[in-house]
Amino acid sequence: MATAVTRREELKAVWQQAQGCTKCPQLAATRTTVVFGAGNADADLMFVGEAPGVNEDKQGVPFVGQAGRLLETLLEEIGIARGDVFIANTIKCRPPGNRDPLPGEIDACQDYLFRQLELIRPRVVCTLGNFSTKLLRADPATGITRLHGREEVRRIGPRTVRLYPLFHPAAALYTPSMLEVLRADFRRLPELLALPAPEQPAAEEAELVVPEPVIVLATEPEPEPQAGPPAESGAAPQPEPELHSAAQLGLF
Ligand code: URA
Repeated sequence: MATAVTRREELKAVWQQAQGCTKCPQLAATRTTVVFGAGNADADLMFVGEAPGVNEDKQGVPFVGQAGRLLETLLEEIGIARGDVFIANTIKCRPPGNRDPLPGEIDACQDYLFRQLELIRPRVVCTLGNFSTKLLRADPATGITRLHGREEVRRIGPRTVRLYPLFHPAAALYTPSMLEVLRADFRRLPELLALPAPEQPAAEEAELVVPEPVIVLATEPEPEPQAGPPAESGAAPQPEPELHSAAQLGLF
């Protein structure tokens, strides 16, 4: 019977597996770190972005650049701390030059995300932007402009969640009107989190009645920022697997 403790252990095992992933040869060759995700491993609220950018790739942590700061601000505005949620991406490695993730990369990486959703068991999942929205709704034809701010109860793998698509914070950074829409959509999150958990498929229901110890992982010490590869030195980036491993493991 899965408890919060065993689910977190399993999440660590998936993290470990992802660290050596070579399913996308180009991404495996060019990344500095695999940016698995970070936050409370037992979170009610999970965010799924697109892909790590340059800062995330260096630090091994999602949403640490400008878009991440905006995400944190929007969370603070509704009284939620970053450490209370879990943040992941559709793909776990930075696409070179910040290009869009390729369909084959999304396919190859999706099992990590589905395992994360299964193990963390969030009640509300916010997709940020088109890539995660299209993947988790299994509908490549309907984009975020039509869907943002409309929650729906949806089965993802073995569980049912409230899926709540939002504009990607990076898109809102330089477009004040979009920022206001994003902010208004964020304001509905406390209400969605207060709703009863969506009804689960039968097998899961049995597990949900087992009382689980509450684990607050947000209080674990923040890792020291890691030094990235020398900027523009021409040298190939050198991964620092041990440093990043220690830092990332403290993050969930
Ligand atoms: N944008 C994303 O989608 N993910 C990150 O981790 C950072 C920026």
